[in-house]
Amino acid sequence: MQTLLTLPMTLGYGYAYSEEGVIGLESGYGDYLFISHAHSDHIRPIKKRKLLSSEFTAKLVYNIKPAKKLKNIEYHNAGHIPGSLQISIDTDGGKIVYTGDIKLSSRGSIKGADVVECDYLIIESTYARMVHPSYDDVVHNFKKFMKKKGTKIIGAYPVGKAQEIIMLLNEQGTTPIVTEKIHEVNKLCSKKIDYVVAGTDYANEIIRDDFVAILPPSKINRELAVNMSVAFNKKIYTVGITAQPWAVYKYDKVFPISDHADKNELIEYVERANPKMILTTHGDDIYFANLLRKKGYNAITYSKLKR
Ligand SMILES: [Zn+2]
Ligand SMILES: [Zn+2]
Repeated sequence: MQTLLTLPMTLGYGYAYSEEGVIGLESGYGDYLFISHAHSDHIRPIKKRKLLSSEFTAKLVYNIKPAKKLKNIEYHNAGHIPGSLQISIDTDGGKIVYTGDIKLSSRGSIKGADVVECDYLIIESTYARMVHPSYDDVVHNFKKFMKKKGTKIIGAYPVGKAQEIIMLLNEQGTTPIVTEKIHEVNKLCSKKIDYVVAGTDYANEIIRDDFVAILPPSKINRELAVNMSVAFNKKIYTVGITAQPWAVYKYDKVFPISDHADKNELIEYVERANPKMILTTHGDDIYFANLLRKKGYNAITYSKLKR
C-alpha cells in the first residue's frame, strides 16, 4: 500500500502556478486561461485573462488569436478533435500535465495523442469503464450501412466528429448535407471535404432522392424522425456516432466511434507518463482513481482538491 503524496504548492483545483502567472485550467481562476479544445463543456468565458490554446480553438470559440506561449509551458497533441491540446507546466514543485480530452490511437486525419512524462497528471476519465470496439470494424459497419438504400440523418458533434464522418462518407462517394454550424467549422479545417449546406438550392435538389444529412446530436430526436418520415413519405433512419451507452434509445442505429481514450488507453497513458500522482477528472473519475489505486498508483479525483 502506498501513501498519498501531498500536492505541490503550485497546484490547486482548476489552476497551476507558474513563474509567469497563474494558469486557469479550463476554470475561472488565474491570469491565463488554458482551453484544451472547442467542445462546449471545456469552454469558459475569457474575461480579462490571456488565452492559452491552439490557433484553431482560439479562432473557432473566441474569434481571437491566442496569447504567446509562456516559457514554462509546453503544448502537446491531444488526438481528440482538430486543435485539441494538452498542456504541461514546469513548476518548482514538478511537472504538471493537464490532458483535457485525449485519444491515443490515430484515425482519419487525426493523429493520436502524445504521452507526456510528468510528476503530476490531471487526466480525463470519460470512458474509464469502457473498452471501445475496434475502430476499423466500426467504420466498416458504418460504411456498409450507409451504402444501403434509405435516407439517413446522422447526429455528430459539429467539431471533430462531423468532419470525420464527412470524410468517411466522401470515401464512398457520398456528399452529405450539413448545417450552417458544421459548415463554419469545416471552413477552419485544412483538409478538403465535400458537403452541401442545408437550405441551398443544391441541397434542396439532393433531398428529392435518398440523402444523408449531418446534424448536431441535440437537434435529433424520435419526433423529428417521425415527422420527416411523414413529410418525405419514406422511412428516415437516425444514426448516432457515439460510444455513449444511452444512444441506442435515441437512434435507429448507433456506431460507437469515440474521440476519447477507453480504459486501456487511459491506463496506457498513466503507465507511460509515470507520474508520482494522478488526478482524474470528467466522467468516471471516481472509478478510474480507484482502479489506479488498485494498481499501486497515487490517484484521487481532481474534484477532491475543491475547497
Ligand atoms: Zn471533448
Ligand atoms: Zn470533454
